[in-house]
Amino acid sequence: MFVFAQQPSLANQFVAELRDVTLQKDRLRFRRNLERLGELMAYEISKEMPYQTVDVKTPLGTASTQLLRQQPVLATILRAGLPFHQGFANYFDVAENAFAGAYRGYSAGDEENFEIAMDYIVAPDLSGKTLILCDPMLATGKSLEKVYHALLRYGIPAQTHIAAVLASPEGIRHVQRQLPQCRLWLGAIDDHLNDHYYIVPGLGDAGDLAFGVKV
Ligand code: URA
Repeated sequence: MFVFAQQPSLANQFVAELRDVTLQKDRLRFRRNLERLGELMAYEISKEMPYQTVDVKTPLGTASTQLLRQQPVLATILRAGLPFHQGFANYFDVAENAFAGAYRGYSAGDEENFEIAMDYIVAPDLSGKTLILCDPMLATGKSLEKVYHALLRYGIPAQTHIAAVLASPEGIRHVQRQLPQCRLWLGAIDDHLNDHYYIVPGLGDAGDLAFGVKV
């Protein structure tokens, strides 16, 4: 498991800005910080992917370099995942993409128990490819689990990386138990989930902060 917060780096400033109740009022900055973390995480994950030697012709000769053998498939969950996903897409610039619409479905009058509802999914062929599934908030881990299993209908990836900005210990345990084949990449690990399954101290509702409060 890779965790930005375990080392000093600029990534920690972007996470701190995402958490800050005053800075959060700037929606553009909030989205851009998610995107910047996606970019930094894409760079870290790129170090673990397969490379091949390629010759590049320059005006003065030939330079031999290591280039990615294949771009990954980038997957995210609507809607909070979009800015984080954009950061990955900025760096994996010709990657194919997958999107899922998944959300917490509550029964009337019960705000503490929910099932993950999924009503939309679109993906390219995943067979033998590197899959990066990104979601800014790894709270219970149930939506990531559901989306990952739904994505497998499009082929079995050679390797899967799950990326999140903030994670709860409960969510990490769930993913490690249910999806042991996936490698985890995190911005920071927080204390716990509250009664509504929100990450504490966390940052609040990432989707609402990025795009506005839903009704
Ligand atoms: N989703 C969020 O946006 N925030 C949380 O704390 C948990 C899930």
